[in-house]
Amino acid sequence: LPLVLTQFLDRAVTYYGEKTAVITRTASITYRDLNGRVQRLSHGLKSEGIQKGDKVAYLAPNSLEMLEGFYGVFQIGAVMVPLNTRLKPEDYLFILNHSEAKLLFVDDELYSLIKPIKDKLKTVSKLIVHSKSKECPEISYEDWLMRFPETAFCREAVNEDDLASLLYTSGTTGNPKGVMLTHRNNYLHAMSSMHALRVSDRDVYLHVLPMFHVNGWGSPFYYTASGATHICYKKTDPKSIFDACSAHGVTVMHMAPTVLNSLLQYNEENKPEVPKNVRVMIAGSAPPPSFVERVEQELGWEFIQVYGMTESSPFSTYSVIRPQLDHLSVKEQYNLKAKAGFGMIGCEVRVVNELGDEVPHDGISIGEVTVRSHGVMKGYWKNEQATMEAIRNGWLYTGDMGTVDEYGYIDIVDRKKDIIISGGENISSIEVEGVLYEHKDIVEAAVIAVPHEKWGETPHAFVVKRPSSVITEQEIIDFSRSHLAHFKAITGVTFVEELPKTASGKIQKVHLRNEYWETAG
Ligand code: ATP
Ligand code: MG
Repeated sequence: LPLVLTQFLDRAVTYYGEKTAVITRTASITYRDLNGRVQRLSHGLKSEGIQKGDKVAYLAPNSLEMLEGFYGVFQIGAVMVPLNTRLKPEDYLFILNHSEAKLLFVDDELYSLIKPIKDKLKTVSKLIVHSKSKECPEISYEDWLMRFPETAFCREAVNEDDLASLLYTSGTTGNPKGVMLTHRNNYLHAMSSMHALRVSDRDVYLHVLPMFHVNGWGSPFYYTASGATHICYKKTDPKSIFDACSAHGVTVMHMAPTVLNSLLQYNEENKPEVPKNVRVMIAGSAPPPSFVERVEQELGWEFIQVYGMTESSPFSTYSVIRPQLDHLSVKEQYNLKAKAGFGMIGCEVRVVNELGDEVPHDGISIGEVTVRSHGVMKGYWKNEQATMEAIRNGWLYTGDMGTVDEYGYIDIVDRKKDIIISGGENISSIEVEGVLYEHKDIVEAAVIAVPHEKWGETPHAFVVKRPSSVITEQEIIDFSRSHLAHFKAITGVTFVEELPKTASGKIQKVHLRNEYWETAG
């Protein structure tokens, strides 16, 4: 059999047909029933004229409708284009036209984002709304779905190198790019994640990360293939997360650092009963090292960090303690877990210098992180130039800079574009920001490189201070000098009301650089 994603749902139905597949706030269905809805959906897609290779877009929060969309779209060889739910109408117009989406499924609460651009969509021939509200004239998904049979399997011949998804990157460093992932990419990524995260049929998985973003995107594959139960809420907050964990016996969650931060905060303030059934908490996107210790000590849950990007399906590394490192102290183990870790099964990860040679494993030498794995994308949609720059000799150049320690654990130092080179020394903007965050008057901070006559570049901070604070630029500079080697200390501060962020909460330093040039440059 080719490595196609349909196999995952087939496996779940074969072994776990009567088991609960999905629990939402209002419903609960078995794998057999989920499969029935998936068949209806595929028949429906075909009746709308969707063919192999056609793009089907989804603008939806985590939900049963979104989850069944994965398999309904894939089994007929169509391509899923999930849209970030926190974009603006113009962004949707760009992505829907750029991806050439033929059909759009949209959640009724998000319909207002599409209404203003509806008439400008060039390729979308129909909008289908998941549960219809009064103001919305479009077709209701549930009515539409029920018109099609659930018993007859609806399949097209799909190859493993066929596209399964077109996922747009977060747009942290520029415009989002459309990443083409094949069935094989997603399939083998799911296998390595299942292995690294020890996913099994005993797992109850609470979807906290949105499925439209690549970190959450992969989870419907490995948690389905293993016969785990999915808990899908449209929205989650710290309280509902703790409640869901207790009510449904959740065993595993993935979270962005910002959400994890609010969970830790909630725990500290409200002292809820911490559910014991949670076996592991997984986080990517550079969680601060202090989070590892807090999750393990304050919540009593194992912490695993993962590192990846849309272009690699996404995960390439994970940080668990290898058995030969058991002798390390707890503190040393936390330090290791705060790193991105080492390659998942089937993922080769190398940190290389400009000549392409691996940097020494000394924990200090910095190079670019490169990945060669089954997860590496086919390329960027309609952007061959960017594809050629990103994938060279079979290796994905991630644009992230890192070090490797004596144990082989990779630490992400910074994005290549954000590193500051001062007097020939590399300075990590993340490290400098970490120090600024320790100041009680600083709510948020972002550090960029600015030109300097003597040193070439120096770090400059954009700071959001506490509303009542009267802190000055000089005080912040002095604070950074007292906590960092002097060459790493900031040389200037711009106070701002807020920092520009992507929909997934990452700071867009490209906008800060423009702002600096407009005002100071
Ligand atoms: P764009 O490519 O559009 O600028 P983006 O790179 O933020 O946006 P994603 O693919 O969502 O889009 O994010 C991947 C990036 O997130 C990685 O390249 C890396 O910079 C960062 N990242 C992910 N996991 C980690 C981690 N564990 N530690 C440090 N950085 C991480
Ligand atoms: Mg990127």
